[in-house]
Amino acid sequence: MTAPARVTAPARTSAELIRAEEPVLAHNYHPLPVVVARAEGAWVEDVEGRRYLDMLAGYSALNFGHRHPALVEAAHRQLDRLTLTSRAFHNDRLAEFAERLAGLTGLDMVLPMNTGAEAVESGVKVARKWAYEVKGVPADRATIVVAADNFHGRTTTIVSFSTDETARSGFGPFTPGFRIVPYNDLAALEEAVDETTAAVLIEPIQGEAGVVIPDDGYLTGVRELTRRKGALFIADEIQSGLGRTGRTLAVEHEGVVPDVVLLGKALGGGIVPVSAVVARRDVLGVLRPGEHGSTFGGNPLAAAVGTAVVELLEAGVFQRRAAELGTVLREGLAALVGRGVVGFRARGLWAGVDVDPAVGTGREIGERLLREGVLVKDTHGSTIRLAPPLTITEEELTAALGSLARVLA
Ligand SMILES: *Cc1c(COP(=O)(O)O)cnc(C)c1O
Repeated sequence: MTAPARVTAPARTSAELIRAEEPVLAHNYHPLPVVVARAEGAWVEDVEGRRYLDMLAGYSALNFGHRHPALVEAAHRQLDRLTLTSRAFHNDRLAEFAERLAGLTGLDMVLPMNTGAEAVESGVKVARKWAYEVKGVPADRATIVVAADNFHGRTTTIVSFSTDETARSGFGPFTPGFRIVPYNDLAALEEAVDETTAAVLIEPIQGEAGVVIPDDGYLTGVRELTRRKGALFIADEIQSGLGRTGRTLAVEHEGVVPDVVLLGKALGGGIVPVSAVVARRDVLGVLRPGEHGSTFGGNPLAAAVGTAVVELLEAGVFQRRAAELGTVLREGLAALVGRGVVGFRARGLWAGVDVDPAVGTGREIGERLLREGVLVKDTHGSTIRLAPPLTITEEELTAALGSLARVLA
C-alpha cells in the first residue's frame, strides 16, 4: 500500500502572505514588507530566497545570531528528553541555570519567568514586598521611581508608568504607585525618592528611546543615592544586557552592582522566551510559596537554552567582540555625520542613529535599506536603531554601513 499523496496548498509568495495577514492578524505592528522564511547567523532569507543582513537581531533577542549551533544543540538535546514539568515538581535543569546565571551577574538568586514584561512585573512585585517587609513602608503606600521615555514592556501596570501616549492611550485605568522623573537627572531622582520608595527602576541605556546613554556617573549616582536612601536599584538590562554593549551588563561600564537585574530577550538565545529577575538574597528572599509564579517559568527547555546562553557569555568572547566591533560601528557612523546623519549614540554593537529628517523618516530609511538587503528598525521620528548579532563579521558590518551611506546619499 502506498501512502496517499500529501495535499499541500501551493506555496504563497511574500506579497500573498502579507495580504493574508491583514484580515486575521491584530494590527499592533507595522512590519517592514519582508517575509522571513529561514535564517542563519547574521543573515535571514525571505520566501523568494532573497538574503538580508539582520541589523536588528530581534531587538537584541538574537545577540548570538540566528540558530547559534551550541544553542540549537542544547534545545534539541532537551527536546528529546524533557520539556515541561511546571514548578509543582523540580526539574533537573533548573539548579544549574540559576547557579550559573547568578554567577554571571554577581548576584545571589534567580526568579525565572518567560517574557521581559513578566520580569519587570515580577521585579515590581518583589520590590513592593521588600518595601513592606524589610523597609517598613506602610501597607499599599510603596512607590517606584522610573524615568521618562522608558520602555519596560506592554502590560497594564508597565504602561501605567510609560510616557509614550501611543502605548498608554485607551488602556487605562492605570496602576498607581509610580513616580516619573527625567532620565539622566540625579537631582530629580534625589527629590523623588523618599521614605515610601521601594525602588528606582531604570534602563542603564534607554533602548526604545533611541539608545540614549546617560552621562558618565549617572549609574554610579543612582547606586549611591538608592543605597543612601534605603531604596532598591533595579536595572532593566533586558535589551542592554548579555553582551550587547561590550560587557555582560551595561551597568558594568560604571562598575555598578544593582540590587536587582532584569534579564530577558537574549537569555532565550532567540529560541524560546526566557526571562529572569536576578537579585540579592535579602531581596528575592521575600517571596514565599504561593505568592508568585508562572506555569512556564523555569521550564527545562528554557533552563537548558538559558544555561547554554550563560555558558557562551562566561567565556567573554561575545563581550569582547561587541566592544571591538563597536569601534568599527562608531567610526563608520562618525564618517556619516553631515552626510545624512545628524547625530548618533553608540555603545558596543548598539547604536541609535538620528537621520536628517530632510533625507527621510526612520521608516523610509528602513524601507530603503530593505531594498539594499539590510534589515533595521526605526524607533521614532527619524531615529533608526542598529543592533546586529554579536556574531556579525567586520566585513558584514562594514557592508551594512556602506548600505546606510548609500541610502542616505
Ligand atoms: C523588550 C523590553 C522589555 C519587554 O520585553 P518583552 O519580552 O517584549 O515583554 C522590557 N524592558 C526592556 C528594556 C526591553 O527592551
